[in-house]
Amino acid sequence: MSVITPSRADADAGTTSPPVATGTPQLWIDGAFLPADASCLPATTHALHYGSGVFEGIRSYATDDGGTAVFRLPEHLERMQRGARLLGISLDVDHVSDIVLQVLRRNRHRDAYIRPLAWLGVGSMGLDVTALSQHLMVATMTPAVHLGGASIRLGVSGWRRNPATSLPPLKLCGAYVNSLLAKHEVAARGFEEALFVDASGHVVECTGANVFMVQGDRITAVEHPDALAGITAATLLEVTGAQSRAVTLDELRDADEVFVCGTAAEVAPVSRLEDRAYAGSKVGNEVASLYRRIVRGNAPAYRHWLTHA
Ligand code: PMP
Repeated sequence: MSVITPSRADADAGTTSPPVATGTPQLWIDGAFLPADASCLPATTHALHYGSGVFEGIRSYATDDGGTAVFRLPEHLERMQRGARLLGISLDVDHVSDIVLQVLRRNRHRDAYIRPLAWLGVGSMGLDVTALSQHLMVATMTPAVHLGGASIRLGVSGWRRNPATSLPPLKLCGAYVNSLLAKHEVAARGFEEALFVDASGHVVECTGANVFMVQGDRITAVEHPDALAGITAATLLEVTGAQSRAVTLDELRDADEVFVCGTAAEVAPVSRLEDRAYAGSKVGNEVASLYRRIVRGNAPAYRHWLTHA
């Protein structure tokens, strides 16, 4: 069931669509292309009230051979599918993958942030969701969301991360209220990003990024059961040979360097953690530049991670 009233965009539904000529981005929603700012959801949408949806944050890049490629698209959509299953939403990875490529082409986006979202719609206000309508949309937009690759100042949040025993670390919409509380709290103290620490003093992750530290020439990825299994972190583990283990806040403070990573943040060196200033980010900058080469198709050994649009 569709919650939208498709307009003439209907004509394009499910077809390979031509790129739009003007700068107005369009998104795909339940089989039709609509302007990205179209207002089309009923106010009784279940996900709006309860956060009953799942999303992904994916990036595409203009590659150095003149093409456009999505970085690790199957991995992102498989993670989304795991979250969808928990909510009882059916999601076909190949179908969503095809739509992602269609939306990119239609918007003529090359360096883009890609946002697929699947959610529960209308039918009931109750918490038994089996009879609710299910929906899917894919939007693409020019990047510069989140940390944007800059050097950042981290504040330690007073909020705890959602424990995995209560909310699995997947990209479930409602779970992100936890992230925005933390970000809001540290922003008031002048920090760009919040760091979650658990009750025993172990580092979890940031609101939208995983954490790495450098000690001498050793790179360590912070491992924690409540943290999202980041695709960027998995990428860096594979290409740098870093080790992953539990890390305390004290260790992170004492490290030579700290950097965070995520699809939107890419690899962002940390200049300060509360009152601790890091002297430099030599390793972080090297890793950031390696990551840039990989996502732009400039590292032949890793081209299998690119899906060409
Ligand atoms: N942790 C959280 C809470 C996130 O939202 C993200 C961004 N998806 C990450 C870590 C990094 O994950 P990825 O590298 O897959 O983007």
